[in-house]
Amino acid sequence: MPSTQSNTTKSAILAVIPSVDRVLNMAATEVLILEYGRMPVVKAIRAMLMELRDNAARTNTLPQFDEPAIHAHLQAQLQLASQPALRPVYNLTGTVLHTNLGRAQLPDAAIQAVINAMTRPCNLEYDIDGGSRGDRDSLIEPLLLELTGAEAATVVNNNAAAVFLALNTLGLRRDVIVSRGELVEIGGSFRVPDIMSRAGCKLKEVGTTNRTHLKDYAESISGKTAMLLRVHTSNYAIQGFTASVAEKDLAALAHQHGLPFMVDLGGGTLANLKKLGLPNEPTPQESLANGADLITFSGDKLLGGPQAGIIIGRKDLIAKIKKNPLKRALRVDKMTYAALDAVLRLYRDPERLTQNLPTLRLLTRSVMEIDSTARILLPAVEQALAGHGTVAITPCQSQIGSGSLPIDLLSSVCLSITPQIRGKGEGSALKKIEQAFRQLPVPVLGRVTDGAFCLDVRCLEEKYVHEFMVQLGQLTLTYDGKSPGYAGEAVKV
Ligand SMILES: *Cc1c(COP(=O)(O)O)cnc(C)c1O
Repeated sequence: MPSTQSNTTKSAILAVIPSVDRVLNMAATEVLILEYGRMPVVKAIRAMLMELRDNAARTNTLPQFDEPAIHAHLQAQLQLASQPALRPVYNLTGTVLHTNLGRAQLPDAAIQAVINAMTRPCNLEYDIDGGSRGDRDSLIEPLLLELTGAEAATVVNNNAAAVFLALNTLGLRRDVIVSRGELVEIGGSFRVPDIMSRAGCKLKEVGTTNRTHLKDYAESISGKTAMLLRVHTSNYAIQGFTASVAEKDLAALAHQHGLPFMVDLGGGTLANLKKLGLPNEPTPQESLANGADLITFSGDKLLGGPQAGIIIGRKDLIAKIKKNPLKRALRVDKMTYAALDAVLRLYRDPERLTQNLPTLRLLTRSVMEIDSTARILLPAVEQALAGHGTVAITPCQSQIGSGSLPIDLLSSVCLSITPQIRGKGEGSALKKIEQAFRQLPVPVLGRVTDGAFCLDVRCLEEKYVHEFMVQLGQLTLTYDGKSPGYAGEAVKV
């Protein structure tokens, strides 16, 4: 009878599968305990034995018990479980400042500064000369003033927080006037109208989507007006029949009425990008010169530093902002000050900026250099694909990212991978290739366009080429309907 047979098999299986204690006492297990600790090893053994039992019962076969295979499996599982949640990846998407991939890479000087700040006590809020309590903003303010020419500066968690805090401080229950052409949404969660209402301000839209004139602003100023706001439309462009008001004129109008004029620059850079052969990007210095009273910008966009929101401008306004109790809730930690300080210092030496600051180094990388890296990678990628796909070196266009104009593209070079299978099954084969690269120990992220998986080589710098090629040996492509098997596939024992 089938049930009896099944029961016999079950007990036979149980007899073959070792106990947790037996696996724990094996010599090879001791090495694992030394590396990962006893509790994680016991957990991994339990999980493995359970899986063995389940597999055997499901397939009605006696498991072959093979010690080396068991330990290889345990080792792989333990290694997987001990991976940190935040892992390095290769950003070959072609978007240099990718918000989902951590935006700016920090320069070595900033990394060292952060390590120091984390390792030992530091003068975060301590005035060493006076021997008394200090203000953390004073760590960064002199440098920001030196580089921008502003009267005062403060730093918060990100640019969204900077805009929010400034609006909440100066515009609570009053009107803030913005052009209809500037009601931007950045990355889904930062929307000017939403930030405005949460900050307690009343949004007063003026003009139209494509054209706003000075008289539109002038006519909407009233006793309830708190300020005029200009938002840099960083991630889109309105083209064609357009008109917007120059910052100079907006500043003059605001000042005529005794109102402040604020500019949210988004990705403001302190460097002259045009001089570096990059698309022009307005700087905080220019907005200051145009008469802006407050300027906000991100630390981890074009500035190339840590996540932060920087507010510069008039001394009396910055003082008010710093007195807002929300400043305490939005303040940044010592690691951010350390990194920001180190990054800002690099701006004192503009000639070597593209060398020392990774963001600008990547953005200004020459096509020739990118192409030569692509040629080094080509044979290794071809070999790793093992006939499942073909690789071609093709021109492509990188984006700056993080809300910089998507129409400003940078010439680049990519490895364009197309699946071997054509027609039926081509789409899923392409998906498998994308997945296999994503499942490497250091995931390789590209973009799928026009039936190809494209790896934009711009952001693969020479120091990572070796590591990149070595791990390609682990690329696993299978077309048997299962997903590629690197991560966590059960070892057959
Ligand atoms: C990116 C951006 C923001 C938000 O900045 P975060 O640093 O991401 O918080 C706000 N305004 C503009 C115009 C932006 O481009």
